[in-house]
Amino acid sequence: MAFARTPQRARAAAASDHHAEAEERSAEQGSLPERRENPLPTILQIRPFENREADHAERQRPGAIAVDADLVGGDKRWCEVDHVTYESVKHKNIHVVGDATIDLPVPKSGNVANAMGKICATAVVNLLNGKEPPVIAPGNTCYSWVNDKEAIAVVNAYKIENGKVVQIEQKLTPGKSVAVARNSLAWRASIWNDVLG
Ligand SMILES: Cc1cc2nc3c(=O)[nH]c(=O)nc-3n(C[C@H](O)[C@H](O)[C@H](O)COP(=O)(O)OP(=O)(O)OC[C@H]3O[C@@H](n4cnc5c(N)ncnc54)[C@H](O)[C@@H]3O)c2cc1C
Repeated sequence: MAFARTPQRARAAAASDHHAEAEERSAEQGSLPERRENPLPTILQIRPFENREADHAERQRPGAIAVDADLVGGDKRWCEVDHVTYESVKHKNIHVVGDATIDLPVPKSGNVANAMGKICATAVVNLLNGKEPPVIAPGNTCYSWVNDKEAIAVVNAYKIENGKVVQIEQKLTPGKSVAVARNSLAWRASIWNDVLG
């Protein structure tokens, strides 16, 4: 029987047609999907978040240049470095900073990568001048705006102990605040100025 479709009816009919076609395909393949009153389009049948997160983390790698230069370490993924100079433990006179590194108790963050870059540059200048590199630990602050006026932050402090970076403390701001939001704007201006000049 033919009838004029309203936009709503047309959408409902299209969804129904789509589901019917999917059932036909499943039947041809030997399995019938469970019938539901309001079937969800197949595209919404997503995998659990934890699996996607784990898969994503598993796929993370440093740039090919790190692999080609044989800087990747025992875990076959990341580059082990000296915690003071960021010199590769595999190859002398090659320094690696940022996300490509492993074994430091720091998050893979832009804040940390930026700090590592500065510390490493200072170390390299000192090494080139035959001087002992200064012992400097990175730091990390991660801001999150929770509305249009307020933010929270998590701050990680580190020190160097026996040549290794160790975490001193991790502090979360007590609550959302305008002051933290203001700090984040100053932090943003500062790090963008560092990175982009
Ligand atoms: C969605 C998302 C959100 C994030 N949010 C935050 C945040 O809010 N705060 C924060 O601190 N961090 C954040 N991070 C993490 C942050 O982006 C990284 O930790 C940081 O960019 C790492 O810097 P990096 O210099 O080590 O690596 P990258 O930023 O990846 O830089 C590596 C560079 O090397 C280049 N490159 C690769 N191979 C070659 C080659 N052969 N020759 C020349 N160049 C090459 C690449 O093109 C790239 O530009 C976020 C990351 C993601 C993915």
